[in-house]
Amino acid sequence: MTSQRTPRILVVGGGFAGVACARRLERRLRPGEARITLTAPFDYQLYLPLLPQVASGVLTPQSVAVSLRRSLRRTRVVPGGAIGVDTKARVCVIRKINGAVLDEPYDVLVLAPGSVTRTFDIPGLTDHALGMKTLAEAAYLRDHVIAQLDLADASTDAAERAARLRFVVVGGGYAGTETAACLQRLTTAAARRYPRLDAGRIRWHVVDVASRLMPELGDRLGTEALRTLRRRGVEVSLGTSVERVERDRVRLTDGRELPCRTLVWTAGVAASPLVGTLGTDTVKGRLVVTDRMTVPGLDGVFALGDAAAVPDVTKGDGAVCPPTAQHALRQGKVAADNVVARLHGHPLRPYAHKDLGLVVDLGGTDAVSRPLGVQLTGLPAQAVARGYHLMALRTGVAKVRTATNWLLNAVAGDDYVRTGFQSRRRATLRDFEFTDAYLTPEQIRARRASVT
Ligand SMILES: Cc1cc2nc3c(=O)[nH]c(=O)nc-3n(C[C@H](O)[C@H](O)[C@H](O)COP(=O)(O)OP(=O)(O)OC[C@H]3O[C@@H](n4cnc5c(N)ncnc54)[C@H](O)[C@@H]3O)c2cc1C
Repeated sequence: MTSQRTPRILVVGGGFAGVACARRLERRLRPGEARITLTAPFDYQLYLPLLPQVASGVLTPQSVAVSLRRSLRRTRVVPGGAIGVDTKARVCVIRKINGAVLDEPYDVLVLAPGSVTRTFDIPGLTDHALGMKTLAEAAYLRDHVIAQLDLADASTDAAERAARLRFVVVGGGYAGTETAACLQRLTTAAARRYPRLDAGRIRWHVVDVASRLMPELGDRLGTEALRTLRRRGVEVSLGTSVERVERDRVRLTDGRELPCRTLVWTAGVAASPLVGTLGTDTVKGRLVVTDRMTVPGLDGVFALGDAAAVPDVTKGDGAVCPPTAQHALRQGKVAADNVVARLHGHPLRPYAHKDLGLVVDLGGTDAVSRPLGVQLTGLPAQAVARGYHLMALRTGVAKVRTATNWLLNAVAGDDYVRTGFQSRRRATLRDFEFTDAYLTPEQIRARRASVT
């Protein structure tokens, strides 16, 4: 086969779905049978479920950043972000990390760019809220929280001290609940090292518009998580949202105004803005795909993971798979099989996976888990949660780093050092998640017209 005839497979995204897909393609296709390229802005696969533990300093950032170079053997990795796709010309426009823009042609395109933090039209939100979706955001949040303790400790102004010691987390899903729980442990433990700070004055709030915490866990475990948070002094306000955010205060829809310098926004995710550049149908912002993960009307294009609304055939009735790592990883493997089937002229198979449950680490020995429908709390839930994460981390190095960090934290406790690496960086969601980097369908058409 000449190199011109060798099919070019382009995978967009180096997360759960993209890496699982590329790895399976490497295994299923002989070298020379297809050219596999993956593009992603970072050279690691981020293990997002443990991000709250990076924010609270229990784990180092490297523990949850699994090197693409260790995971992939012969895939060509282009360091950059896809900013648009011209599906007619079968070209993906990539902005490399040095700013250069590249037109990457493909025969088969696998779209797995994941999601970004979902925001709403709330005044001040995008200017002042901090996210929990990238490694940089987790590291920034850790420094920011410790900086508030340092500044409160040094301040002689009672109002300023109170505001700096109040932390508001919006979103009572697993991301928000774990973030609040893990950071609350950190600040409570840290207070012992600040002789002028009264731990009782540190206030954590979790706010959610829903009437329950983590509804996907079911009534009993959701209530148990709520009880754990309240026992630790976290104030949980359900059925409540945010009306306005300012640099030094948050106004809630129940009329309360909370002076604070920290608002962590974890109220859901929205599909990557790349989805919008295709000009095809979406459902709740996610790309409409078939149960084989093909995009209707676009020959040779597959989409999966958080970016796509993959039908959940185990539930039927128009249900789509939730945006979880569990699904993204498995979809990656099935998508690779379907890409191979397409190249070999075989029929594609539908994606079907029954949810295995959820594990929620609330820090220390507090946890709630529902593996295979079994409801666990406390130490057994924590053992299941940590065992699951160790199994799910892809490489041996990542497993050892994570296990060692947990052991070190259990023995030596938390540490309270601000790295300061990002202290001069602006901290908006847009800056961390590059949400305004994308081209519009019109810009893509104009770009093609100027190239051809
Ligand atoms: C704090 C937190 C905790 C979570 N906990 C759990 C949990 O306990 N269990 C669970 O099942 N799920 C959990 N999730 C959800 C889970 O992490 C996601 O569903 C999963 O990561 C989705 O996989 P993905 O491959 O679609 O996207 P991701 O894993 O996010 O990967 C997307 C990839 O695409 C790259 N990318 C983004 N834009 C572009 C672009 N334009 N061009 C090229 N590449 C791009 C990104 O850099 C990344 O490499 C959690 C999420 C968060 C935020």
